[in-house]
This record gives sequence, C-alpha cells and structure tokens, in this order.
Amino acid sequence: MTQRLPIYDIEQELIDRLKTDRRLILSAPTGSGKSTQVPQMLLRHNFLREGQVVILQPRRLAARLLAARVAEELGVTLGQEVGYQIRFENVTSPKTRIRFVTEGVLLRQMIDDPRLRGVSALIFDEFHERHLYGDITLARALDLQEQQRPDLNLVVMSATLNADLLANYLKPCATLSSGGRTFPVDHEYAATPGYTDKRPVWEQAADAFSRYVHGGGEGDVLVFMPGGFEISQTLEAIRHTPEAKGFMLLPLHGELSPKDQDAAVARYERRKVVVATNVAETSLTIDGVRLVIDSGLARIPRYDSNRGINTLLIERISQSSSDQRAGRAGRTAPGVCMRLWSREEHGHRPLQELPEVQRLDLSEVVLTLKAAGVRDLRKFRWLEAPDEQSLAHAETLLADLGALDRHGALTPIGRQMLAFPLHPRYARMLLAAQAYGCVYQAALAAALTQGRDLLLRNMDRDTQSLREDLLGDKSTSDFWMLMRAWTYAVKHEFRLDACRKLGIHAVTARQVGPLLEQFLRIAGREGLDVQPREVPDEALQKCLLIGFSDRVARRLDQGTLRCDLVHQRRGVLARESAVQKSPLLVVAEIREIESRDKEMNTLLSLATAVEASWLAELFPEDMESEMQVQFDPTTKRVQAAELLKFRGLALSARRVEPPPADAAARLLAEQVSAGNLTLKDWDDSVEQWIVRLNRLAQWCPELALPPIADDDRRHLIEQLCHGAYGYKDIKEREVKPVVKSWLSGAQHELLNRHAPERLSLPNGRTPKVIYSPGNPPHIALRIQELYDVNQTPRIAMGRVPVVVHILTPGMKPIQVTQDLAGFWREHYPRIKSELQRKYPRHLWR
Ligand code: ADP
Ligand code: MG
Repeated sequence: MTQRLPIYDIEQELIDRLKTDRRLILSAPTGSGKSTQVPQMLLRHNFLREGQVVILQPRRLAARLLAARVAEELGVTLGQEVGYQIRFENVTSPKTRIRFVTEGVLLRQMIDDPRLRGVSALIFDEFHERHLYGDITLARALDLQEQQRPDLNLVVMSATLNADLLANYLKPCATLSSGGRTFPVDHEYAATPGYTDKRPVWEQAADAFSRYVHGGGEGDVLVFMPGGFEISQTLEAIRHTPEAKGFMLLPLHGELSPKDQDAAVARYERRKVVVATNVAETSLTIDGVRLVIDSGLARIPRYDSNRGINTLLIERISQSSSDQRAGRAGRTAPGVCMRLWSREEHGHRPLQELPEVQRLDLSEVVLTLKAAGVRDLRKFRWLEAPDEQSLAHAETLLADLGALDRHGALTPIGRQMLAFPLHPRYARMLLAAQAYGCVYQAALAAALTQGRDLLLRNMDRDTQSLREDLLGDKSTSDFWMLMRAWTYAVKHEFRLDACRKLGIHAVTARQVGPLLEQFLRIAGREGLDVQPREVPDEALQKCLLIGFSDRVARRLDQGTLRCDLVHQRRGVLARESAVQKSPLLVVAEIREIESRDKEMNTLLSLATAVEASWLAELFPEDMESEMQVQFDPTTKRVQAAELLKFRGLALSARRVEPPPADAAARLLAEQVSAGNLTLKDWDDSVEQWIVRLNRLAQWCPELALPPIADDDRRHLIEQLCHGAYGYKDIKEREVKPVVKSWLSGAQHELLNRHAPERLSLPNGRTPKVIYSPGNPPHIALRIQELYDVNQTPRIAMGRVPVVVHILTPGMKPIQVTQDLAGFWREHYPRIKSELQRKYPRHLWR
C-alpha cells in the first residue's frame, strides 16, 4: 500500500538529484509520504552506507509516532533499526539506521562530534514551520557538508515552501515537488467573530460537530484545539451531544501517554472524532477525515521581552496555518472545514507566522552555538537573521550568567549549563542551587513563573489585605508569596471560588505541579540533590540573584519606588511587591508599560532582596570601585567619594577625606582657568610677563625659550593649586615665584635683555613697554619726553620696532608711529606751532 503514496512518483528523480547535488528541497502536500518514506528510500538506495539518517522534527509527539510508523512498516521493533530521541528520552540502539529527533538533539551531537561520524544523511522535516532549531541546525549542516563532510546528504522537506528563499540559501540545489492528490474542501465560517461569542470554544466546536453529523455529513472528524485542557473539554462537550453516538472520541497531544497517542492515529471500523493540537496540522496524517473543525487557536511560543522568557500563550493562528488545517479534510474525498471565527475576522489575520528565530529568545541557542565553536554570531549563515538587539541581549545575558567570558567564549559553567535542556537562567539557577541545598525550591520558583501570572494584579483593597493575612508578609522575596499562594491553591484543590478570594489564577496554579515535577526530573538526572528540605531564606535569594543578576536594582530613595538597574537602566518597583524596605533587590520580571501621560515606564516586579556583600561574593569580577571627585560650588571645596559599583550600578559611596591631591588640584585649576575663582596675586604683571615671554619666543626662535601655551598655563595653575582642597587654600597664594620658575636664570636674562620690561632711551628716559599677544609692542610718551630720541627703538635683537604712541603734554594722542625719524622730519614741523599755541607753558624745541 505504501507503494501507492504520491512520493513514489518522484522517487527516481529524487535519487538522481541527491546523488549529484547531495542537497535537495522536497515540497509535497501533507500525507504524500515525505516523513515516513524518504528515510526508507535513502536506506534502500544505499545512501546511508553503514551510517544513519537523522530526521529533525519540530514536535516530540510527531517524532515518536513517525518512528513507530516506520518501524511498523519495516517490520522491526521500535528502538532497534528505527528509533527516536527527544529532549528527555532516547529510544535508539547501536543498530539504529533511521532516527527521528527534535530540538537541540542534533546540534548537541554536533558539539560532541563535529564531524558527525556515523551519520550519512540529515532530513529537515516540516521546514515551513521555521522552528528555531531547524533553521540553526540546517546552517550548521551546510557548513559541515562544505568543509568536512562532502559525502553528507541533506534533504529539506516541507508541506509548503518559501522555495525562493530556501533554494537560494541551499544553492546549488534542486527543488522537487509532488502535487499529491487532494480533494476540494468547503469552508464554513461562524456568523460572528469568535471573540464575540462568549461561550467556550469547546461548546462551539460541539455544536459544529452536531450540525455536521445531523446534516448527514460522512467520515471521520478532526478538531483543532490549542492545548490539553481545551481538548478534554471539547471531548466532554461532544460526548454529551446525541450525534456522538457510535463515534470513538480520541484526544491527541504531547502530554498523553504513548498508548493514547497511538490510539488516536490508529484505524478503526467505527467512525472517530480526533481532537488534536496543531501536531495534526501537517506533522501527522489522520486518514479518513472529512470534517475539520478549527478553533483557530494555538499555543504559540514567543519571547516575552518584558519577562525575559519564552511564553506559550494561546493566540490566533495565521491564515496559512488555518489553510493547512482545512486541507486535512480533503485527503481521501471532498471535505468540509468549519472555522469557529467569522470570514471578516479571517481577513484580518496575519498571512504567516514569523519564523521563530525572529520571535524567540535566543540565549539558549546562542549558548549552544558558542559551544559548537561559532565565534561570531553576526557572521553566522542565518537563513533569516534575527535582529541585532535580540542577539546582543542574548550575549549580555549569557555573560552575566557566567556562561560566556569577556571575549564571548564559552566558560566551564556555560558548558555545564548545556546539560540542562532548560532556559539558561534556570539552568544556571539550578546549578547554583545545588551548592545551597535548595534545588527543590529553585525548581519551584522556576515552575511558578513559566505560565501566566499566578497572582492577579490590581486587586481591590479587601482582596489585597485578605491576601496579606493569609499569605503572610515575608518581606525578603515576592517568591515566598507565590509559593504560599500555590500551596494554598493545592490545599483547596484549585477550586475557583477559593482561588478567586485571594486573586489567584487557578488555571495557572494547576500547571505548576507538573512543571515542578518535570524540572526536578531533569535536575535529578543531572545528579543534583532534589530532596525538599528547609533552607535559610538566603539560599534561594542567592540563587535568584545568580539567575537574574542582569536585573539587579537599587532604590534611589525610600520616598519613591524609583530604581536604578545594572547596565544603565531605570525602572519603578511594583507597588504590590513585598520587598519594600531593602535598598538593593533583584527582579525576575520587567515590563514596559505606557503610563497615562504616554511615557514608557519600566515596571519591576517579582522582587527579591539582596545584600551588596553577596554581589561581591558571587561576582567579584563585576565589582569595580570608582573614585568620584567633584568641585562643590557652594562650599567652594573639592569633595571625594569612593563609589562601589556592580556592572555600572552604584551600590554605595564612602566619603574620602582628604580627597586625592592631584584630582583636587586639577579641579581647582579648572575653576581658576574658567574664571570662577581668582588668585589675588595673579595680576596684570603676571600676564605681561607671560606675553613678553611668548612674544620673544616667537620673534627669536633661536633663543629656544619655552613659551607658555594654554596647556602650560593650566599646568602652572594646577601646580599653584597643589596641596589645596578649597578656594580658601589658594586665594592668597603667591603666584609670581611659581610662574617665573618656568624659566632658568639664564633664560630670565635673555628675556630681560631682548624683551625688556622697560626701554632705556638715549635721553635717559625708561618707559614701560606694553606687550600684547596680537599687536606689536608699544611705548607711550609725551612729545617732550621724546626729544633727542631720533630713531625708532627696537627690541628682540633689533628685529622688532617698538611702536611709539606720541602724546601731547595733556596726554592726548598726536600720532602712532613706527618711524620716529620720519615724524621729526616731516610731521613735527607742521604741527609744532599749533601745539605751541595750545600748550604755551611747555618747552618747545
Ligand atoms: P507526509 O510527511 O508527506 O505528510 P507521511 O509520510 O507522514 O506523509 O505519511 C504518509 C502516509 O502514511 C499517510 O498518508 C498515512 O496514510 C500513512 N501513515 C503515516 N503514519 C501513519 C500512522 N501512524 N498510522 C497509519 N497511517 C499512517
Ligand atoms: Mg510529514
């Protein structure tokens, strides 16, 4: 019978192309025989030689069922020639030739053996779903094939394909497609949008079922629901309809026992209703289905950047997913698909889901890739690259967890974390908990935060105080509150009324137990001590700190809830947090919310108190102390404090007295230079001396005098301020000796000779020379004082004429000249009589 599957129409072509290219893209509708037949073809045509074919599947349930099916077709025992390996389970043997795997199994194998010995072919199944591990493992496989294993066969399979993107990525590579056989499917929509019908979705599904059967509809029925809970509710609702008589009612989802899973896909004489998760969308084929009832919902994994974890919340599926689901009704004969949402709403749904690489937290895969030797993630051959921010975020987190060192390379702790198929935060927390004897509590803390919020927010005052009365007020961590709330819910058997009284989300509480057990199982397998025992509060607080050390916060003051966080972020502590007194805390939840005035606020919740000494104890390399020296304009003094910082977050400040002398001098000098403080002794004569020096250095470079540039001036002021801590100390300081010490005795003599303070004129007068940075030097004298001075005086080895400002006896300017001889000869005779008349009592020659 398998011989008649559509995939066999292209068997020969598939074999030929793979032989030449070693790569192949295969696109064929669900049910064509891709997953079960292609591995067998590779085996039959000797592509495997002595080795294995490994098929990467997005879903654990599908991996197991497909392996079982192939084992049955080959007539062998599951786990022998055909096996499967999923996150927590390995059903293979040394004889295994066909192995179905999920998630990181293949990637981890590549880390252990980079040549992937014993594997001859890799098949990437359901590639259209664009699971994170599919994308990444394919990239690694292409590298491997190009560099070390040209003999490795690679097949990428999918029910629908973005063929261009993929063909380009895999080039050179052929794309084969097989049409398969499908029958038309009629689509029926609900009259009103799904969300306006307030009845539970399972009741709506049961109605659709009744209508169909009542109207004479034939064949088996497949119902899509988001998860285990909705599936059991649906089965219950259908069981109560009169139309269900004679039908077998079967659930199909990942949490069922293998026996129940097998039962759902088995064939029966009687008609059946299978209620499944999206595993039946394309991964598994259920034969004989003529009616599909689609809730239009699925649990979609997504990264919640607010909480910094991946979530699995119920969301509306894309149009393309719902088309796949509908297609399940038309495999063997024309069928019907009833959608429990309106046609109008359908048009508003997204066409496609985003690939996981663009919507999930990357820290776990970044950790795995680093372990696989990928140094630069930006140069990784992404099919579609994630955005830079989520890569950077993953790297920072891993560094903070101690999994990567400063150069981005994997640390021994990072390698150890890989043993846990958990998010790195929790892997790190559980590893740490071993040392503190609180693995059980750490696993419970992890389980309490995976689903929706256990405690509803914004409760009224009564509920709030009732909650406090019953749950206690242990104020070192909000996790105590969560744990007590969960214990309370367990004690009341998750009864809605009891839970509602305290604002506990009963459905979330119910999910905690199984998660806890799962985490404990993994930890136990890794050799951790999972026995519950009493430990000091501090133990768990420290573990939380280790898992969330990138979220350490410090209260800015006790009056408000504002906090500074590490890595230069800010936030506000949630009002309902029990940790109201500790100045230092670590938060497990960060949410961006928009306030009423449209500003983004960062709300910090699920807080735990921590001690600064723990930070120093646990993260010695991330502590830094920084001396902060400042000039205080009010006291006009320099003040110093030593800041203790953790990853950029200031933890404490200690006053340092006296402040470091160099820094104090520098800060005071800055104030002096800026003109905010004045030194009494730094007068005009000091400025003149500096200008004289600088000008002479310019005019006569051969004298090699050192000018005082701006920097030198600052340096001199700094020297003047040395040993001072406030204005009081420098105000009266003697300046001249310090400034003049700039020159040696011999240099002083040169300065006095070539750029003298005063000139000696032939008539015995000694006028003061005024130097300025931009203009020539000058003297100013009344005309009588210039008698007998016939030549313009010169300085700087005769290179620079001194400008003469000639004044009347009444000190009014007559002329400014650099040519004194010319003045006496030509100008003076013309003005002499006029001057004589004006100043008759003076001597005129
Ligand atoms: P594809 O991967 O192309 O969707 P499969 O290889 O999964 O196709 O399935 C091919 C066919 O094999 C299906 O149409 C179905 O008839 C049959 N089949 C697969 N698995 C089972 C099973 N567990 N029980 C019964 N029939 C199965
Ligand atoms: Mg398949």
